[in-house]
Amino acid sequence: MRKPVDIPALAASLKAGERRALARAITLVESGRADHRADALALLDALGNDRQALRIGLSGTPGVGKSTFIEAFGLFLVEKGLKVAVLAVDPSSARSGGSILGDKTRMEHLSRHPQAFIRPSPSQAQMGGVARRTREAIALCEAAGYDVVLIETVGVGQSETMVAEMCDLFTLLLAPAGGDELQGVKRGIMEIADIILVNKADGDLKSQATRTCADYAGALRLLRKRPQDPESFPKAMTVSAYEGRGLPEAWDEMTALADWRKDHGHFAGRRAEQARYWFHEEVRLQLLERLQRDPVLAATLEAEETKLINGESTPTVAAANVLASFAGGTR
Ligand code: GDP
Repeated sequence: MRKPVDIPALAASLKAGERRALARAITLVESGRADHRADALALLDALGNDRQALRIGLSGTPGVGKSTFIEAFGLFLVEKGLKVAVLAVDPSSARSGGSILGDKTRMEHLSRHPQAFIRPSPSQAQMGGVARRTREAIALCEAAGYDVVLIETVGVGQSETMVAEMCDLFTLLLAPAGGDELQGVKRGIMEIADIILVNKADGDLKSQATRTCADYAGALRLLRKRPQDPESFPKAMTVSAYEGRGLPEAWDEMTALADWRKDHGHFAGRRAEQARYWFHEEVRLQLLERLQRDPVLAATLEAEETKLINGESTPTVAAANVLASFAGGTR
């Protein structure tokens, strides 16, 4: 028999800011086991949501300098007295078996800092599972009193849009590039980015970084103006994670944007919209989970799938048949 989790004790330790309690709580929300899920829900319920962090999404393809940037930026923030949590979202880790974002040597100094907490990406294959885990981990970090939660993701698949749906600000880290490479950045991600940071603006790369930044600033100006933004946003700026150059300016811009949105009601509005979005996603996900857990329904699902593959049904009809037997069942 597994020892039951003492939820009130865990909640109290977590609220007191104990990093081990936070790590344990995140392990709980990451678990796929039904009894762990029940504990996770009880814990989230016990913690409430009276504490808020600034949630910052950070995306960039491998090699642009995310680890180096987060190490430098995170240390800059903790030196300001802020508590910083870093959560990684790496959907590719499930496929490759080992997470690039889980590498222990990443952010060596920041990970040892008492005011910082770093959590690598779990290896979960399903996007729905990754999204849930990340949202719940954010809530846990907020309850533990972190001021800033950085949600890092690699530019793979839908992970960026997913992260954008759970953060207050979305930043995109890019490397200096030749002019024609600008086309390579997907329009979709340009549209969700609040701040583009062109990293590696140092040494031989400095002038190239400045040109790249100007190119992106130009591209951003062509995008439709967003009502939730002040005049100068979205914007592009250069940074050097190596030299720490541009980090205070980047932070100033992030807080200026967050403050502006707070003053104009867009901050809370965005969070409410996100909550609604995730509520509907959760209903979908939980329905599917219940479907898969029920042996009779799972069998119906399989039978309908076979018919479909054999050309004896259509996706709409097959789904309707599964749901018809679901609706007739009990909880
Ligand atoms: P990630 O894959 O996005 O996490 O990127 P890393 O942080 O591992 O960095 C990728 C490469 O870029 C490494 O060789 C870093 O040393 C280098 N790098 C990162 N930041 C900078 C920077 O500010 N300037 C320069 N010149 N190189 C950097």
